[in-house]
Order: sequence, then C-alpha cells, then structure tokens
Amino acid sequence: MNMQKALNPPPGECRQCWYHAYASREVHKHLKPREDCPECVDHMINGHGSDIVPKRESRWW
Ligand SMILES: [Zn+2]
Ligand SMILES: [Zn+2]
Repeated sequence: MNMQKALNPPPGECRQCWYHAYASREVHKHLKPREDCPECVDHMINGHGSDIVPKRESRWW
C-alpha cells in the first residue's frame, strides 16, 4: 500500500473514505467479518461533511 497516496486524497475526495478505502485492511481489522464500519456507514448516510478535500480555486486569470 502507498501510504503517501492513502493519506493525501485528491481534491473533491473524502479524507476518511479515501483513507478507509486504501488502508481498509488496517482500519477495518477490528471489525467482525460481517460487521460494517461505523465511520464508513456514517459517511454513507450523513455525507462526508468537512472531510471533503476542498477543490483548488481555478481563478488564475
Ligand atoms: Zn467520507
Ligand atoms: Zn471504514
């Protein structure tokens, strides 16, 4: 796994979901086989909120 990439999601991506997707084995290892990750479920239901990486303003002109 590329930790650098796991910890640096591109703009518009959710930091938590990106990290969980990349490092899911590590992050989700405390879960039982068919147990859902509460943090992932929370984001699926309630949205990602401030975990979304802000898109850079493209007002360069
Ligand atoms: Zn998320
Ligand atoms: Zn998760």
